[in-house]
Amino acid sequence: MEETDSISNLKYRMDGKFKMPCKLADGTLQKNFTLYLFSFLRDNKYIGPEEHFHVLVLGNIQGKDNVLTRIESACTYAHLYGSQLCDCQFQLQEALIKISKNQSGIYIYCLDQHGRGTGIVNHVKVYQAEQELGLDTVQAHLKFSLPADARNYEPIITILNYFNVKGIKLMTNNPKRLDFFRKYNIPVERIPHQGPLNSFNKNELKIKKEKLGHLYAYEFK
Ligand SMILES: [Zn+2]
Repeated sequence: MEETDSISNLKYRMDGKFKMPCKLADGTLQKNFTLYLFSFLRDNKYIGPEEHFHVLVLGNIQGKDNVLTRIESACTYAHLYGSQLCDCQFQLQEALIKISKNQSGIYIYCLDQHGRGTGIVNHVKVYQAEQELGLDTVQAHLKFSLPADARNYEPIITILNYFNVKGIKLMTNNPKRLDFFRKYNIPVERIPHQGPLNSFNKNELKIKKEKLGHLYAYEFK
């Protein structure tokens, strides 16, 4: 059934939930994740009329402060195939391991936010332009008149409100996300979430640090 969130004013549905035992990247089995699907009805040029979010919840987060939280944008290249062009594979795996070790937390997967919210078609075009024209990620977005970051986090506010979460410990390197939660007066503490640097992802992460202000501690030469 469709509802409207009192804080974000977004229309949404919680479509259903089920228990999903998961084998994590460190080899451990987490039997107690519950997966929810949320759908948002919206009108956005870049992300389509309907947006879907998987939400994995572990432990009791209802009404809690300092809930360990990760917001993941879809990146099928890394998440399905293990692409090393970005750090997305590490970020997904590490977040689930940290939540599992903490025995509590919420993991939100933004299924329709490929390519920093520009969509799966633009994500392919951007990679092609980077490799064939030697552009960096920001230049490639400009070439197709795409915003460097088109993601909207209002659905996340709705999801946190659904679970009555009062404050979060957010695994992120992206200062924009922290600013967003502060704008909504949601207490947020940052947990750095940085993976290994390699020869394939080095340029992408360097540009994200230098041009998009991501809070990586890497020293780029
Ligand atoms: Zn990625």
